[in-house]
Amino acid sequence: MRRSRTHFESLRSWRKARADEPVRLAPNIWWVGHAAPDEHFQCHSYLIEHGDQSVLIDPGSELNFRITFRKIERILPFRNIRHFICSHQDPDITGALPTIDSIVKRKDAQIVTHWRAAVLLKHYPVRLPFWDVEANHWRLDLGQGRRLKFVFTPYAHFPGAFATFDPTSRILFSSDLFGGMTDEFQLLAEDESHFESIRPFHEHYVGSREILLNAIAKTEECQPRIIAPQHGSILTGKMVPFILDKLKGVDCGLFLLAQRGAQIERLSKLNRVLREITNTLILYRDFQDIADQLLALIKDMVPAETIEFYALIEDGQALHFAPETRYRGQPHPLPPVLRALLRKGLGGFETKSGAHWRKLTAKGRNGKRRAAVVLPLLGGEGGQALIGLAVIHFAQDRVIDDYSATLFSRIQAPLQVALERESIYRRLDLERQKFYEQSIRDPLTGLHTRLYLNDTLARYFHLHDRGESGAGVALALFDIDHFKRVNDSFGHNQGDVVLRMVAKVLTQTLRGGDLAVRLGGEEFAVVLVGDTIGQIGRVAERVRKRVKALAFEGLLAGHRLTISGGLAVRRKGETINAFIERADVALYRAKNEGRNRIREASDDVCAIPGAANPAKPAKSGKKARSAKAKRA
Ligand code: GH3
Ligand code: MG
Ligand code: MG
Repeated sequence: MRRSRTHFESLRSWRKARADEPVRLAPNIWWVGHAAPDEHFQCHSYLIEHGDQSVLIDPGSELNFRITFRKIERILPFRNIRHFICSHQDPDITGALPTIDSIVKRKDAQIVTHWRAAVLLKHYPVRLPFWDVEANHWRLDLGQGRRLKFVFTPYAHFPGAFATFDPTSRILFSSDLFGGMTDEFQLLAEDESHFESIRPFHEHYVGSREILLNAIAKTEECQPRIIAPQHGSILTGKMVPFILDKLKGVDCGLFLLAQRGAQIERLSKLNRVLREITNTLILYRDFQDIADQLLALIKDMVPAETIEFYALIEDGQALHFAPETRYRGQPHPLPPVLRALLRKGLGGFETKSGAHWRKLTAKGRNGKRRAAVVLPLLGGEGGQALIGLAVIHFAQDRVIDDYSATLFSRIQAPLQVALERESIYRRLDLERQKFYEQSIRDPLTGLHTRLYLNDTLARYFHLHDRGESGAGVALALFDIDHFKRVNDSFGHNQGDVVLRMVAKVLTQTLRGGDLAVRLGGEEFAVVLVGDTIGQIGRVAERVRKRVKALAFEGLLAGHRLTISGGLAVRRKGETINAFIERADVALYRAKNEGRNRIREASDDVCAIPGAANPAKPAKSGKKARSAKAKRA
């Protein structure tokens, strides 16, 4: 008898060689099955070598037993086998029993099985006695400290089915459980894709999810290191917990086929894609990815064309997520038909298979009737508030069958999570946008604020410094003359009227691309860019003249207002502060020289009409310093 050197570690290379040899899985534990060519349904037999108390697990049928026998004889004399374990009664496990019965001579040999299998197997007929696992407390003592444990897994897929666990090697001989069908013989499961060969087997052969979960729970209690099933591939290492976990999510039971309208193929496909969507929700932030995946799923199941979403924000308004806007979420008034639907709350929707929906039909451009299905999305605290709607558009007018209803009920939960999360992000974005808008607009005059001036100048300066042609920047600073007197004489409200009128002068004097800013108090600025910077002197002078010409009414009737201005043209590399500072110095020169005039920064030539513009140094008086301090 030649002992095979093939052992577990070399399974991969062995798979290619397909040697007609036993394969050692662990010390004294062997695979002795037959790699049948062109067979999806490989049947495995396993041998536990234990002197004259050796064990053969799931002997097999007449189709493979001769080969199994030859492999066993390479390891030990067949007469050393005392225990023939039959995990259940199927012929691919027990078909060889009459042959075994005829060659076994020893008196103490026995068929180890459950009594439910024994009552069937005695019909073969066999002379060997049956040893009932249940009557023997699910344990078989092999002597010398080795003992096998049986794991009762009824109805997966026979009421007397069990698996055999060897605590010494921590191998679970799982029989039909965790087995699969493979196109090619592959004794060792190589990667996670193996799950796909296991899944259909369980969907079709295990009676229900509860039965499968019970079998998985009992398997996990054993903490097996290796799972050696009767069909398919052996699971080792990380594949053991991976496959057990994956199987927990499988819906099984052929009875599903019997349900009207339901199709196990479609349902199991749906389950698979839903898991993918759940993973997408965890992995991806982008709503478009999620929406695209969902549409692909829905299209696979029903003839849908597009899907759009509405996340409710406030009265009649919604964030609209649509393919046209790449699911970015734009504020949008809710279409009247949806608004009418929402007025009735969930009562406006039909219910079937636990799903709410409402079918709407409309005539398409070609005159054909087209249907859309509206799904309410719930969320918020308690999860019962209507937070949005999903609208699935169909190519034609379509009847909702039980299957579509199941589809709708399954996709509602992931949709709700995705939409609720996305609309929170989008709403925060809108709020931020609103705050920004508020911070860049002066509420009294409607002009831009200093914050916006800084943002804009930073952008312009960048272009200017890069040497882009026509990217120059010119600035005019204005300060109303003796504005304090307006407040003092006519009251603060009249002061505000004056500020608004001056702001109006600025906007009416400027052209589209120019920028008018209220810096604070009664100080304003005008920014010209590009080809127009040469106009800064003329623009400023026009502002001065128009302010002077303002004709007030009411309390202010007859009041004469003037304004002073300081100009600067930006030098390359100049900072915002330095640039404004130069215009400021020019402004205070205008003040010091008697107000109601425009002055330019020392080295700049701003072409102020009618101004001799003597570049006198500014008085370093108290007034200039305090005004500058006020602006800082
Ligand atoms: P000068 O010609 O030197 O610029 O004198 P002025 O009186 O215009 O300058 P000053 O800086 O002394 O006074 C500005 C006043 O503007 C003081 C402040 O109460 C008033 N002011 C600032 N903001 C507002 C506002 O929003 N509304 C009103 N009505 N007054 C304001
Ligand atoms: Mg002032
Ligand atoms: Mg002033």
